[in-house]
Amino acid sequence: MLGGKQVTLWRQIQRQNFTKLECLLDYLELDAELRVKISSRPQFPLNVPARLAAKMPKNCLDDPIVRQFLPLQEERNKNFSYKQDPVGDRQARHAPKLLRKYNGRSLIVTTSACAMNCRYCFRQHFSYAEQPGFERELALIASDPSIKEVILSGGDPLSLGDTALGSLLNSLEQIAHIDLIRFHTRFPIGIPERIDASFLSMISRVKKQVVFVVHTNHAHEIDSDVADALKQIQRLGIPVLNQAVLLRGVNDSISALKELCHTLTSIGVMPYYLHQLDEVDGAAHFEVPEEEGLSLIEELESQLPGYAIPRYVKEIAGEPSKTNLMKRELCTL
Ligand code: SF4
Repeated sequence: MLGGKQVTLWRQIQRQNFTKLECLLDYLELDAELRVKISSRPQFPLNVPARLAAKMPKNCLDDPIVRQFLPLQEERNKNFSYKQDPVGDRQARHAPKLLRKYNGRSLIVTTSACAMNCRYCFRQHFSYAEQPGFERELALIASDPSIKEVILSGGDPLSLGDTALGSLLNSLEQIAHIDLIRFHTRFPIGIPERIDASFLSMISRVKKQVVFVVHTNHAHEIDSDVADALKQIQRLGIPVLNQAVLLRGVNDSISALKELCHTLTSIGVMPYYLHQLDEVDGAAHFEVPEEEGLSLIEELESQLPGYAIPRYVKEIAGEPSKTNLMKRELCTL
């Protein structure tokens, strides 16, 4: 209990996240030789759930989970083609928390908070709106009947408590021309306890079609608790898809991608996208050249069934859809 209010289990777990670098480095038993490779004052704050930290090997930086969440000195290397706003969020901002990029869809930036901070995050420099509520965003969506789908993103929409999220879902339910509500979330990967009875009950009451897009880059992120949480969402008739980012030192090998796509499909999650890295300032060390990505996908096609192959795409600021790098032509989401 906090101030007479019950604190949910998932919030209690979230509050145990590693946010102090020294604590995490000590937990990982990193020796002095490796500690000098860590950025002691990263621009993008450290935020790692205990579940993910427990998957990190001791005294090692060469690991797919470690690389995604530990700030390396390489983040400070300047690469001038890498920008603060690589995907044109600023120009797509129609209201403080509303982005409009693609026909028929609008995206609500629900919150700045996440279950974990990923070092390659394309919104790590985004200036999130401070004010509470979504009145302006909902009014704009309601006034435009061409919008058929609303994407709840952030940050991570599951960082909102069930009261705030339930209220937002209720408001979207009232807008007749909205057919689909899509969640983009990484929460169940770091804190699967978020998918609790209260959340499932709230989601099961939504009458519009809900779609979940989770974000996993490596098979080690998926364990039986994560799989169970995603299965409970699927049991409500909600499709669950995955998007991954192609990352140097994380999943830039045929074995890593094959294991990821196979693990996903074996728990009923469809690999949807493999994203080329968004060129965000601080993340250049994660870049895998497109030619290498194309070879990996071609190799993957020879090893897995078609339904297990993600579309290899790139988001280019100002384009009306993601660019399918396999076809070198525009495709719709
Ligand atoms: S969970 Fe998503 S929004 Fe949050 S830091 Fe990671 S990539 Fe960025």
